[in-house]
Amino acid sequence: MSARQYTHYIDGRFDGKETSYVDRNSPATGEMVARFASGEPADMDRAVAAARAAFDNGPWPQMSGMERAAMLNKYADLVHDNFDKLVRIEVEEVGKPIRFARGDIGGVVGLIRYAASLAMQMSGTTYTNLGAQKTALLMREPIGVVGLITPWNFPALILMQKVPFALAAGCTVVVKPSEFTSGSAFELAALATAAGIPEGVLNVVSGKGSVVGKALTQNPGIDFISFTGSTRTGQTVIEDSAKNVVKTSMELGGKSANIVFADADLDAAVDGALMGVFFNNGECCVSGSRLFVQSSVADEFVKRVAERSARLKVGNPFDEDTDIGAMIDEKHFSKVLAFVKSAVAEGAQLLTGGHAVEPSQGNFVQATVFDRVTPSMTIFKEEIFGPVLSVTRFETLDEVVGLANDSVYGLSNYVWSKNIDTVMTMAKKLKSGWVQANTIIDGAPQLPLTGVKGSGFGYEMGQAGFEEFTQLKTLFIHTGPRQPVFSQ
Ligand code: NDP
Repeated sequence: MSARQYTHYIDGRFDGKETSYVDRNSPATGEMVARFASGEPADMDRAVAAARAAFDNGPWPQMSGMERAAMLNKYADLVHDNFDKLVRIEVEEVGKPIRFARGDIGGVVGLIRYAASLAMQMSGTTYTNLGAQKTALLMREPIGVVGLITPWNFPALILMQKVPFALAAGCTVVVKPSEFTSGSAFELAALATAAGIPEGVLNVVSGKGSVVGKALTQNPGIDFISFTGSTRTGQTVIEDSAKNVVKTSMELGGKSANIVFADADLDAAVDGALMGVFFNNGECCVSGSRLFVQSSVADEFVKRVAERSARLKVGNPFDEDTDIGAMIDEKHFSKVLAFVKSAVAEGAQLLTGGHAVEPSQGNFVQATVFDRVTPSMTIFKEEIFGPVLSVTRFETLDEVVGLANDSVYGLSNYVWSKNIDTVMTMAKKLKSGWVQANTIIDGAPQLPLTGVKGSGFGYEMGQAGFEEFTQLKTLFIHTGPRQPVFSQ
């Protein structure tokens, strides 16, 4: 099998420029699966110039919402037609199990169709209560040229939580995908052109974040940066984009609590505990990696979670029955195993897993469950981004609220209880952008995602996510004779 090779996608075509490449080796087999052009700041400058020209002089922002929606729907059709190819790319480059990759690409199609519907509804507000001679129009306009920086864990899905919303608003886009997993971004850009979306509207430059990512955030031609990634890199992006006083949106890390009350449907909650931490190899920002179980049911509940975790199949992500694939690269694989070591050293009780899958050429970590984790332990505090669950027991609602909120992050939290009072009280007390009850890592294109505290700010998806890509211009109109203010 020959590796896919991509040059930058600028102005509606692959530029084909002679360049050096970032090689992507499969995290499951070690085999090279793709090569992405290793961009330089000058490549980013060309892409931003193309997007700037497409915004300032091109047809895209001038089209009616109906026209943009028609093209976005055609785009969704083409993505659907290329479903299997995109799924294969995600499995090869990320190492995620194929059934989860199918969910990602299905989600991409839904996101584009939903964003198309928003293109038709873009509107502002009129104030008619300002006095007989005064009217004000809040005109909603596209924000301009947007820079999108995305991580490796959901390369297509997270990218498309942004791209179609930006396009629906009439923006033009430059994407910097993760250097590990740029393949689907290139394929999705080429499909946009095939759907009739004009040249220069969607551009992709691959390469190192410290080089082309930085060049994007510092480029004066950019009007808005939407970033998804680690909190540390997010801070750098904020600093760099501040030089041009550019708006940013930050979808950052998380350390979510998955809270099980004794009155929950415990069968569903056991499955939810597994989904919370092992979905997408545990490489998931909204992973429910801190499990809190009410003491009266904890012994039996934790036993069931550990037994089922031990039976999960870890290995070839192309196998239909694989539950956990490979960690993204060796460095991350070692980092996950170092967290496991720290947990043992700090006194957590290892119930299952706790080691790599041997022998193997890939970065496979066995599903791992630690019980008796306390707030002072490293695995309670740090985002592990791997298949490692920490369990902490609690007695009362107030106690678990304190434990759950004891985090620098605030992305998502999950509650399992049949009591609506408990669910509503928890939803109000938990400090996170997202709370789910009796389900986990669920979602829909209509529902915005956001973080609080170290998990960031700004919205992604939903009407609120769409509006991030717009700005309001206030037009104040006076009609008829105007009283002079100065008499001289
Ligand atoms: P990183 O922060 O390492 O990278 C994210 C992106 O930023 C990559 O494209 C990276 O490029 C780029 N980048 C790196 N340095 C810079 C820089 N100086 N300037 C501009 N861009 C730069 O995150 P990961 O890819 O490791 O993703 C995992 C993290 O993402 C986790 O913390 C996770 O929680 C978070 N995340 C948050 C989500 C949310 O919705 N809140 C969703 C998914 C993930 P390159 O990799 O090529 O160097």
